[in-house]
Amino acid sequence: MSASPETTSDVVIAGAGIAGLTAALTLNAQGIRPVILESTREIKPLGVDINLQPPAVEVLTRLRLRERLEKLGVPTSSARYLAREGTLLAERTLSPEEQQIAVHRGELQNMLLDTVLERLGSDAVRTGQRVDGSS
Ligand SMILES: Cc1cc2nc3c(=O)[nH]c(=O)nc-3n(C[C@H](O)[C@H](O)[C@H](O)COP(=O)(O)OP(=O)(O)OC[C@H]3O[C@@H](n4cnc5c(N)ncnc54)[C@H](O)[C@@H]3O)c2cc1C
Repeated sequence: MSASPETTSDVVIAGAGIAGLTAALTLNAQGIRPVILESTREIKPLGVDINLQPPAVEVLTRLRLRERLEKLGVPTSSARYLAREGTLLAERTLSPEEQQIAVHRGELQNMLLDTVLERLGSDAVRTGQRVDGSS
């Protein structure tokens, strides 16, 4: 990654968070090579564990990231319904389409960043560059 002032691309994405990185991989899968401008100088793996809902898991699966994702996180195989005091009311196994994956936001971001650099090249993410507007 660099903070080069020269940026030419048909598509510019503001921010290398999990949304911007996923958007970049999705565009790249369609033959478009975007550039991501990230305002911070260094991308740090910040955050807490988040639960990726089935639509998010599906997007990442289509991007051929399911294996990497499952290594990082914990797939949810069943849903348990508990009463307020903790008594188990019901439990059911989730189908593959219903599966959620719990993953640390920062580790997910790092995995997406590594994948962007692998697939789009090391100059696809420019740090220390803030997007101030568009025309
Ligand atoms: C406690 C907590 C629990 C959560 N649990 C869940 C959960 O269970 N499931 C779930 O799906 N989500 C959860 N979330 C939400 C999830 O973490 C966020 O929705 C997600 O991280 C947002 O990603 P993002 O890429 O949109 O934004 P961000 O991660 O905020 O990334 C934006 C990036 O853009 C950069 N940027 C901003 N402005 C500019 C600019 N002008 N120019 C260039 N760069 C810029 C920033 O520096 C940053 O790197 C949780 C959030 C919190 C705080």
